[in-house]
Amino acid sequence: MTAELIDGKAAAQRLRARVGDLATRFAEDAGRKPGLAVVLVGEDPASSVYVRSKGKATVAANMESFEHRLPADTDQADLIALVDRLNADPAVDGILVQLPLPAGLDADAVLTRIDPDKDVDGFHPVNAGRLATGLNGFVPCTPYGCLLLLRERLGDLSGLNAVVIGRSNIVGKPMAALLTAENCTVTIAHSRTRNLPHHLAHADIVVAAVGRAKFVQGDWVKPGATVIDVGINRTDDGLVGDVDFESAASVAGAITPVPGGVGPMTIACLLRNTLVAAHRRAGVALDADAI
Ligand code: NDP
Repeated sequence: MTAELIDGKAAAQRLRARVGDLATRFAEDAGRKPGLAVVLVGEDPASSVYVRSKGKATVAANMESFEHRLPADTDQADLIALVDRLNADPAVDGILVQLPLPAGLDADAVLTRIDPDKDVDGFHPVNAGRLATGLNGFVPCTPYGCLLLLRERLGDLSGLNAVVIGRSNIVGKPMAALLTAENCTVTIAHSRTRNLPHHLAHADIVVAAVGRAKFVQGDWVKPGATVIDVGINRTDDGLVGDVDFESAASVAGAITPVPGGVGPMTIACLLRNTLVAAHRRAGVALDADAI
């Protein structure tokens, strides 16, 4: 292996510590802690684990955690009514509805009901529009975490060629928008892309968000490139990313491991977005780019 390992766990710990300090200062100024409400419908085991760890991380960052666990047979109207209550609750700065929702519930209708200024997941179309047009909104946590790792490793990204593999609303598209805003030249690849290795041959930055275990091969990667692996795939060999780590790490300049790369940054960025939401709602100044 020649690539430098990008330690997302350490970067996430540093970010969480900074957010925690700023949350304490916010509480002194505003007379209340920033508050994050997490809604879990049903008992999906993976979602339960995520919700529990989000709650713990929220409290550890000196914020208030409000957990709402609803039964799997909750109907749409009750879920919408809860979102409305959280929208109106002054102690709640951020609202996150854990996905996937049980069959029969309309996730789009629920997500678009969240007040865009409390939408710390950044999934509301208003926030997608703000990102696309360069306005201040909330950016989905996973691509934002990738951007922070890239900035930390490369500094100014201006002029670099970036290939984002995947065009989902929660990872690929916002990632491409963020890199465009950083003045990268961005290519978005997807399942209909022809000759992906040809595109990767020119990429200084590769972000893989495909959902296929070990999909990106080392001999596709430009020597010295920075490779960010968003993938989380459960296989018989354990948790693996969307990049074939062994072969890519012998060519890349730097690479994120799975686990311990992008994953830990996602929760840290959720806390960061909640902190930003609290400041905006309370009218307390904060230099969000400096967090
Ligand atoms: P989606 O399934 O929504 O999107 C996958 C994308 O990959 C699609 O745009 C699809 O193209 C594209 N794709 C599929 N096959 C190919 C191919 N052969 N060549 C090129 N592109 C292809 O996944 P998500 O964006 O939600 O997630 C991507 C990965 O990231 C998953 O492994 C997921 O588990 C992980 N993830 C990790 C998070 C974290 O915190 N670390 C958070 C969120 C996701 P098309 O649009 O044409 O179908």
